[in-house]
Amino acid sequence: MRITVLTLFPGMVEPFFSSSIMKRAVEKGIIEYSIVDIRDFAEGVHRKADDIPYGGGAGMVMMAAPVAAAIKAAGAEGRRIVFPTPSGRILTQRYAEELSREDELCFICGHYEGLDQRIIDEYVTDEISIGDYVLSSGESAAVVIIDALYRLVDGVIAEESLEDESFSSGLLEYPQYTRPERYCMKSVPSVLLSGHHRHITEWRCMKRLEKTMLNRPDLLSDASLSIEERRTLLKILNNDKGTCQRWTLSEL
Ligand code: SAM
Repeated sequence: MRITVLTLFPGMVEPFFSSSIMKRAVEKGIIEYSIVDIRDFAEGVHRKADDIPYGGGAGMVMMAAPVAAAIKAAGAEGRRIVFPTPSGRILTQRYAEELSREDELCFICGHYEGLDQRIIDEYVTDEISIGDYVLSSGESAAVVIIDALYRLVDGVIAEESLEDESFSSGLLEYPQYTRPERYCMKSVPSVLLSGHHRHITEWRCMKRLEKTMLNRPDLLSDASLSIEERRTLLKILNNDKGTCQRWTLSEL
């Protein structure tokens, strides 16, 4: 996959591509990237890339011309172009999966009050929000979106690591533990030390359901649960009526 990031602040994005799992994906040639400084396409001695909003109001707006020139220079015209914005469609795991199947993606990082609407109308295919809050920069939002999708590209992460992850089957992940067995007077649940695979699978299934019910009950109505998972959920409900009183048998 080829990822292009258009930004006024390349220094905010570069460390992500040269660290950790992304660094390895780049070294393996699974991900290619380029970071384009929009200011290189701004005119005048001061390379001005933002201006005051028409109609008045606070802050500055990123000008259309330098961004359009950067898009063309990057060869991204007509490709899938993402603009991270609080007014976009919310990023979900499913949306990230869809984006991960693209061969090329271009990101335009907004800054200040945002981007001249004419660029969005002309070039942007996906306006994506990473949540209902406002960040100061599109760079951090772009990094979040890229992080969510590139790890799903074949060869970046072992497939089995992705299998039980939160949202992959509509539920949250079970709790994880590593060495030592005892830490701060707390022990790792004995079932995880038992070596008994079926018991471990059952325990994990129960914990995923418990955690989802507690932290994100909204996910349960869309999750496609197996009969076994429904049974486990009923058992949890019967044992813990306090936490789960809003769930009735008919909703399962
Ligand atoms: N004036 C804009 C508004 O009210 O929607 C907010 C601009 S924000 C200060 C600057 C940039 O950060 C935006 O152009 C966008 O690229 C990015 N940004 C902020 N919050 C975001 C979010 N929740 N999701 C995606 N991008 C976001």
